[in-house]
Amino acid sequence: MTEVLTEARGLARHYRIGRRVLHALDGVDLAVDRGATLGLVGESGSGKSTLGRTLVGLQKPTLGKVLFEGKDVADAEPSFLKRLRRERQIIFQDPSGALNPRMTIGATVLEHLSVQGWSRAEAQRQAAVAIEQAGLSTAFLSRYPHEISGGQRQRAVIARAISTDPAFIVADEPVSALDVSTRAQIMNLLRKLQMERGLTMLFISHDLSVVAHMCRDVAVMHLGRIVERAPRAVLFKTPRHPYTAALMSAIPIPDPVREKKRTRIILKGETPNPANKPSGCSFHTRCPRATDICRSVDPPMREMGKGHEIACHHPLE
Ligand code: ADP
Ligand code: MG
Repeated sequence: MTEVLTEARGLARHYRIGRRVLHALDGVDLAVDRGATLGLVGESGSGKSTLGRTLVGLQKPTLGKVLFEGKDVADAEPSFLKRLRRERQIIFQDPSGALNPRMTIGATVLEHLSVQGWSRAEAQRQAAVAIEQAGLSTAFLSRYPHEISGGQRQRAVIARAISTDPAFIVADEPVSALDVSTRAQIMNLLRKLQMERGLTMLFISHDLSVVAHMCRDVAVMHLGRIVERAPRAVLFKTPRHPYTAALMSAIPIPDPVREKKRTRIILKGETPNPANKPSGCSFHTRCPRATDICRSVDPPMREMGKGHEIACHHPLE
């Protein structure tokens, strides 16, 4: 039985830019099952980070709500709110920016725990367990961020996130700022933690090939909306949304024979400005399948197969 741990319902986030309103999130419905990793992909500016931050409570939505364990977090009682702060954590792209350069790794983790109500002794125990689970020895607790490598800094950020024993982690492009050589190690670490701790994860990436190795399901975001969601294998084998197919075309295939055989969908034109979204389907200006209806009617999300949902008037076969 799958059970939803957290869910976005009709989530919108607007920013006022001069006289225009930018719709960073424009009606997102998305459920994350307990114990599963959901990949979230889309071009830069599609609203992935805004959605991730809203799901962990770092940002408030303009409209709509976030549910955690079925309860609206906006109505949370103080005791539930305190637990929510422990249960929901986020890992950012750039570990250098996420760590205070003037604090040791240990002080950073201890501060994080003490803010959430841990006693000093408990916090020290939690920090020691977390740093080792993140693949670093406890000696790293007395180091400063500039004394360790980028990969080790990201492990320290991960240690801080898991130190509160969270149920849900948003990993926002967690390997994008790292050297190619350390990316696989951090991916493996996240996968190991996900399995060992039964974590629920939203794994954000602008790169579909990164989520291919991590996630049970994948959701595709375009200009503040989810346009397709499917189990990973289904999405990679039979993408139905032309935008998903285009993102897939951008993944390099190392095998030249297979590369030659595939049909690539190359997007024409610029990504529309989220402060000036096209009418109807917001992808129509770049879509090779667009017709009149796409220019006027926003396609609703509909189910196309088991766990496969798509918002498109002309899905691929
Ligand atoms: P992604 O993570 O997919 O790149 P973001 O969630 O960071 O997308 O941003 C979505 C859109 O919202 C972008 O157009 C971005 O410029 C805009 N945006 C994000 N944060 C702010 C902010 N604080 N003020 C104004 N616009 C913002
Ligand atoms: Mg982002």
